[in-house]
Amino acid sequence: MRLMIFSDIHGNLEALENVLRDAAKRNVHRSICLGDLVGYGPYPNECIELIRNVKNCRCLAGNHDVAALWEASPYGMSKAAKEAILWTMDQLSSDNKDYLSSLPDRIDLDEMTFVHANPYNPKGWRYVMDRKYALRSFAATRSRFVFIGHSHRPLVISKKHWLSVSIEPITGDTEYGVNDSRRRIINCGSVGQPRDNDPRACYLIYDTRKQTINFHRVEYDVQKTVEAIQNANLPPVLGRRIVKGT
Ligand code: ZN
Repeated sequence: MRLMIFSDIHGNLEALENVLRDAAKRNVHRSICLGDLVGYGPYPNECIELIRNVKNCRCLAGNHDVAALWEASPYGMSKAAKEAILWTMDQLSSDNKDYLSSLPDRIDLDEMTFVHANPYNPKGWRYVMDRKYALRSFAATRSRFVFIGHSHRPLVISKKHWLSVSIEPITGDTEYGVNDSRRRIINCGSVGQPRDNDPRACYLIYDTRKQTINFHRVEYDVQKTVEAIQNANLPPVLGRRIVKGT
């Protein structure tokens, strides 16, 4: 099976369309979206509707998705994020709100666990980028792989023995072999707002037969999204971030 995993679209329709087009050329059988369909970006309804129409795709809820439903307060977020959430609340159709509220916070499938942020407290939304929270995440599941998003940075954390892990940031298009017995936490990066100084959209494909994980970076018309951010009167800093990939 070739499984596409993507996350953190954040209302960036241009990026999402290009990622789905790229994946369609690579023979994907199923896909899983790790959440944050909305927030920051100018096309929340369009992104939800596009994802709902992807065949064999399951989707999780992220922190921005639940904030847009007022299930979590947006007031702990950064000023720009909060403003975008309040704007998104006004935009969402009731049908799309129902869809977001139906999304689970964890999916377990064969030897894989999927969450937006972490598996030990999915709705606590803490980032998993260091040893402490990696060990907590490994302890919270028996799965061989835990796929996460949320930090917008592609990353592989491997469990070596007992209390030791290796943390490898992933840059550019990378093929990562997993043909061993190690347990791993894999961050698939972000489609709509990458934060690793590479503005290209990011997603991955896990090939279960070949035991490879391919991270793909996809160019899209960033300027088009920046203009849509301006036209929607969203905070201009959100446009600057996607230009730089921060
Ligand atoms: Zn996000």
